[in-house]
Amino acid sequence: MAWVAKQSKSCVAAPLTHYIEALAQVREQDLEPHPKGGVQIRQGVAADRRISIEDPDMRHGRKSKRFNGYKQHLSTDLDTDLVVACAVTPANRPDEESTGALQEDMAHQDLFPDVLLIDRAYLNSAMTEDVLASGGDVVCRPWRGASAKPGLFGKRDFKVNIRDGTLTCPAGEVEPFEPGAVVHFDPEACGPCKLRSSCTQAVSGKGRSVTMGDDERLQKRLRSRLQSRAGRAQLRERVGVEHRLAHLANRQGPKARYRGTRRNLFDLRRLAVVQNLEVAARYLRAS
Ligand code: SF4
Repeated sequence: MAWVAKQSKSCVAAPLTHYIEALAQVREQDLEPHPKGGVQIRQGVAADRRISIEDPDMRHGRKSKRFNGYKQHLSTDLDTDLVVACAVTPANRPDEESTGALQEDMAHQDLFPDVLLIDRAYLNSAMTEDVLASGGDVVCRPWRGASAKPGLFGKRDFKVNIRDGTLTCPAGEVEPFEPGAVVHFDPEACGPCKLRSSCTQAVSGKGRSVTMGDDERLQKRLRSRLQSRAGRAQLRERVGVEHRLAHLANRQGPKARYRGTRRNLFDLRRLAVVQNLEVAARYLRAS
């Protein structure tokens, strides 16, 4: 880089610029000053770390296992089996960030879901908010929540009253709550409580605490859906989207075909079109 910097401008013009910028980014993210002078490999991982010189967009991601590259997102009309929108994001981005692009694709077709069947990872998305704000329904599994320590009451053992904004513990103590806040039960009530050993391991003088979600109202609705047979059947309808994804993955293989988000979005749309043509052919054969 130092040598290139001394050369004339024409020497650092494209295509070299691309590599010089990549080197600068890698140096910045992977090295840090050494206490005795010079540089050393950085301890820890930089946020949004670049992992490829050739592909500036691909990132490390995690689903059930670690992977490098991109995440693909699909919107499927479950009545027709057609893929109506696609999005591609670097692997380290939260799934919920893709819904803006999906909504944009659907808006071009004047589509807006009145019932949204989604994976939990899309629950905090703008699309979920829009569907709920327009009076639509969201079908999804509720957050699992931090699992209770063995032998202790979990959050589900507490009664949430959304209308009154209160939380009632198994011993009947009531505390008000705010969405997203932590509720601390009164230590004076928890101290002599007969159920204390089944409720909290907090040190003496402290009571049980429970973390409330930002979307407690929605979570409560999702939890009650899970209790009914009809609700569970509705949740299973989303399997149609999984089938679309599985067909795409089967056709596409495990590796991204191109470098960069934009080209891989093109690839995903191309495959979705082929898939939609197959669905159309199926309808034609059946008619
Ligand atoms: S320990 Fe406190 S929060 Fe837990 S059941 Fe008893 S009074 Fe309720």
